[in-house]
Amino acid sequence: MAQTTIAENLLRVNQRIAAATNRAGRRAEEITLIGVSKTHPAEAIREAFDAGLRDFGENRVQEWEGKRASIAELPATWHLIGHLQSNKAAKAANLFHSIDAVDDFALAQKLDRAPSTLSGGRTLRILIEVHIGGEATKSGVSEDNLPALVGQVAALGHLDFAGLMCIPPYLENPDEVRPYFARLRTLRDQLESQLLRKLPVLSMGMSHDFEAAILEGATEVRVGTALFGTRASAQ
Ligand SMILES: *Cc1c(COP(=O)(O)O)cnc(C)c1O
Repeated sequence: MAQTTIAENLLRVNQRIAAATNRAGRRAEEITLIGVSKTHPAEAIREAFDAGLRDFGENRVQEWEGKRASIAELPATWHLIGHLQSNKAAKAANLFHSIDAVDDFALAQKLDRAPSTLSGGRTLRILIEVHIGGEATKSGVSEDNLPALVGQVAALGHLDFAGLMCIPPYLENPDEVRPYFARLRTLRDQLESQLLRKLPVLSMGMSHDFEAAILEGATEVRVGTALFGTRASAQ
């Protein structure tokens, strides 16, 4: 297969997003594309930024700390999409605009108390990761514990709790992942009734299944391989 550039890949992913939103009767502007740049160098992030990408996802605090120096000034939105240990919460709050995989209250409390100095004190956004699919290898709060956690997190004063995130099982046929995405949307709808307010964000869908996620209501898709190419190490 011929090597494609990041700009070409971005064009292709945006076309796929447009086709999926079209099929779903939605508008492409409803979807935020998060480029998952983990394992890829800072130059790849700059290349994607120059091609028009504005949201980036990293899954490790330390990796992002090590490579952000030359690109941190870019007016992009930086997401932490991987599991965060609470001892790194204060650090993460200063390195990312959004913590997309919060799954316990102690962590949320630490994030709430952490001074966020990034981009003029913009409120730190968080998403709660739901453990959907029951796989032992994945993190996230269980569906049973979700309503209680959401009640606690919504009461914290300094966080923008915006919605839910999930990583469903990998299934060869993306259509078979749709029930998991539909489940996250249902849970979100129930929580909106519980909180009597909107939770606008559903972060779901990766390179091979983001069309299915868009059909089920995703507002953010996290795409790595289709933009930056295959990763050398499995993470
Ligand atoms: C790596 C990763 C992605 C991107 O996966 P691709 O299959 O490369 O698109 C999305 N979300 C999370 C949480 C990830 O860790």
